[in-house]
Amino acid sequence: MIEMNSRKFYITTAIPYVNAAPHIGHALEFIQADAIARHRKVNGYDVFLTTGADENSLKNVQAAEKLKITPEELTKRNAQAFSQMADKVNLHYDAFVRSSIREEHWPGVEKIWELCNKSGDIYKKSYSGLYCVGCELFYTEKELENGLCPEHKTRPELVEEENYFFRLSKYQKQIEELISSGKLKIIPDNRKNEVLTFIREGLEDFSISRSVKRARGWGVPVPGDSSQIVYVWFDALGLYLTAIGYGKDEVRFKKWWPANVHVIGKGIIKFHALYWPGILLSAGIALPESILVHGYVTAEGQKMSKSIGNIVDPIPLIEKYGTDKLRYYLLKEIPTFEDGNFAEKNLEECINNELVGNLGNFIHRTLTFVWTKYAGSIKKFELTPEEMVFIKNISSKAQEVDVLLLENKLREGMLKILEIGNDANRYFQANAPWEIIKTDKEKAERIMFVCTNVCRIVSGLLYPFLPESSEKLLALQNEKPMDFARLLGIKAAKINEPHIVFDKI
Ligand SMILES: [Zn+2]
Repeated sequence: MIEMNSRKFYITTAIPYVNAAPHIGHALEFIQADAIARHRKVNGYDVFLTTGADENSLKNVQAAEKLKITPEELTKRNAQAFSQMADKVNLHYDAFVRSSIREEHWPGVEKIWELCNKSGDIYKKSYSGLYCVGCELFYTEKELENGLCPEHKTRPELVEEENYFFRLSKYQKQIEELISSGKLKIIPDNRKNEVLTFIREGLEDFSISRSVKRARGWGVPVPGDSSQIVYVWFDALGLYLTAIGYGKDEVRFKKWWPANVHVIGKGIIKFHALYWPGILLSAGIALPESILVHGYVTAEGQKMSKSIGNIVDPIPLIEKYGTDKLRYYLLKEIPTFEDGNFAEKNLEECINNELVGNLGNFIHRTLTFVWTKYAGSIKKFELTPEEMVFIKNISSKAQEVDVLLLENKLREGMLKILEIGNDANRYFQANAPWEIIKTDKEKAERIMFVCTNVCRIVSGLLYPFLPESSEKLLALQNEKPMDFARLLGIKAAKINEPHIVFDKI
């Protein structure tokens, strides 16, 4: 136990551009990161979760211009929308960082810049290239699809100016070796292979500054050159460091860095798997342990886009269904590492058939039976060999949930809990305690002894996925969220008056 408590776990979500309101894809990422963090936390890790707002982008300046407000006003407003969504989806964060907050973030960015400069990896050159403002990225001709940005389907603008460049090419071999050996783990494997293929085609140096004019003076000034602003990605990636004290509080920084996992969407893999390791290697800062890449959420079978007008806003869904029902749906129905589809009818079916029909049914039947027939108390029994087999099967599935969550396989973990729910419902049905009790109260209590233990296990396993519901269910059993090993200890039960936690839509 002491050893467990000494383990630290630093996890980050991507730091979203806050040029528009958050959508269901952001909610998915927040919920995924939160489920992973809660799993570690409940199992004895010391956890720190960083999220925030990437605000120093050209996109924000343009969005603010359109709305006739200042970038400060726009970013403050949009950052608020993101932190509100974080609260609504029950993302428990330790830091919500904003890159426009000078005193918090800028000294760290300057420090990274100076370290890279000292390594001889920053140089100035005149440059012209095709720039997508949506991506905040220069594209080469061959990366475009029919001359358009593959992400935004818009024509990038030709930009010509003198910029500072980062010598990424120097780190090509090193980054390739780190990723292929798994020292820097890219999850899942197909994303890792995609990155390796990209690296083997050759890494080019990239621009890490903008003219003050083009950036409209918005962003972190380049140390020692007031005519240039630090490129938004160079600045934003640094948030992972400054959130935990880099550039201000070395003790705190050393406690948490390196990150154990960066959770990101597939669209920004290049920045995290190529640029970020390059910058860190140059600055002599340790690399993160892993990068978890999730896919995109489509809406009712179509890619979400402003022009189609089918962007799914998670807030009304939470207001209609509640946080845990949305969490359940996104964690269970969307494959953790691939694209998935959001369909409201499907959400309702999943809730009614699985969460309510399977897990809710078993839990509520068990608790109600124990409350009404045994005044809430079930004593401890010695397990018979048959009962032992059943409980062992449940325990080994519970341990598999733990392993799956350690591998960040959230969907598979949830599916495993549903399997336990099916086993438990079958056990209750086959043993028919409502019949047995008529002739043998002791024998029926024995059945309920097994059921209450499984009920506690299921309720506890749900904690990373559905924290609020799990806490409610455990409270009905006079328990609190606990580490998964302790969850499996077989014991007597004391139930409070039950109420329905998972209700039908
Ligand atoms: Zn783009």
